Amino acid sequence: MSFKPANNIQDLQYFGEFGGVNPSISDSSTYTFLSAKTMFDTFEGNADGCYLYSRHSSPSNLYLGEALAAMENTETANVTASGMGAITSVMMQLCNAGDHIISSRTIYGGTYAFFKNFTPKFNIETSFVDITKLDAVESAITKNTKVIYCESVSNPLLEVADIKGLAAIAKKHNLKLVVDNTFSPLSISPAILGADVVIHSLTKFINGSSDTVGGVVCGSQEFINDLRNVNDGAGMLLGSTMDSLRASSVLKNLRTLHIRMQQHSKNGLYLAERFEADGLNTVYPGLKSHPSHELFKTMMHTEYGFGGMLTVDVGSLDKANQLMELMQHKNLGYLAVSLGFYKTLFSAPGTSTSSEIPEDEQLEMGLSDGLIRFSIGLDADIERTYQMMRDCMVKLEILDKERKLKAS
Ligand code: PLP
Repeated sequence: MSFKPANNIQDLQYFGEFGGVNPSISDSSTYTFLSAKTMFDTFEGNADGCYLYSRHSSPSNLYLGEALAAMENTETANVTASGMGAITSVMMQLCNAGDHIISSRTIYGGTYAFFKNFTPKFNIETSFVDITKLDAVESAITKNTKVIYCESVSNPLLEVADIKGLAAIAKKHNLKLVVDNTFSPLSISPAILGADVVIHSLTKFINGSSDTVGGVVCGSQEFINDLRNVNDGAGMLLGSTMDSLRASSVLKNLRTLHIRMQQHSKNGLYLAERFEADGLNTVYPGLKSHPSHELFKTMMHTEYGFGGMLTVDVGSLDKANQLMELMQHKNLGYLAVSLGFYKTLFSAPGTSTSSEIPEDEQLEMGLSDGLIRFSIGLDADIERTYQMMRDCMVKLEILDKERKLKAS
């Protein structure tokens, strides 16, 4: 039977201690022991099923972690207070002073800033490469390289990583492949394709209600134990722990992820096809014109589609800002960063989520001023949404013509 990530979430059963259909929330930061010896054994990592202190682990966090590990087909997982909490602890765990990282050059701006500005303080250097070119990745490897880092579908340019190809390079050179799968939960299973560690910002599609930040690291039992080690684990020592109340609410939302992803993808594909047919410069992995459309098809679980993220380049920042304001005024979505909400969210990444990337580097990677990133919502009537967006775009062109006339 082929791997079905949503079944793995569905099949997990946790009950509350009174038979509640949801597990009880572990609302405690610390735990008692009947004997001092068990406390000592727990500290040493030798008392299975015992809890010590919630920065280390807690029942609610473990429930959520297990569900996400089941979804990603890894042995286990560790949930964190944010996606950045997951990324930074993984990289600090895998790299020592003097080590080298190869990263995709198009990644979330915060991750880019961490590699570019923060890790050099520890003498960890990063080479940023075009991740779609496997030969460029392999040629960037040095004797100090430890990790290849990428996003399955990149923020904001929606470049698609060839995870199998990257995993083969990582294996050949004894490196770890770390994949941020935030943009494509359920659609792509990086661990099945050979990734060693899979990360999510739970803040986005997985939680789906824009009410919290959160993150997860999915990996082998050995790696997650290392992260949690009380003596030298980056997860334990840097303290990016998720709160139990949040873990329990994210778990409840996770159970509807499969339905939400299908609707995000259906709406995303509908709008991308219409925008492209209207002559707009549209990028969406589900379009045949996307350079990695065929690659995406080889990696995806078809039933979840190509995701809810698309970009449209309207030519200039002024036009992008005006269009977003027009669309927000018509209640078609919100001018906001982040993604995975029930409502469409749009932002101009060059001046927001990717503003950490210097302008010349933005240009080099093809991130232009007029680019709008859309996280398409769960709209029940996407045809109506399209018509209303189209009206906004027509109005935008009229306003632009008027502005040019005035200026001339
Ligand atoms: N990874 C990706 C692809 C993201 O888009 C983001 C945030 O936008 C993050 C990681 C960071 O996650 P968080 O904001 O939950 O720390």
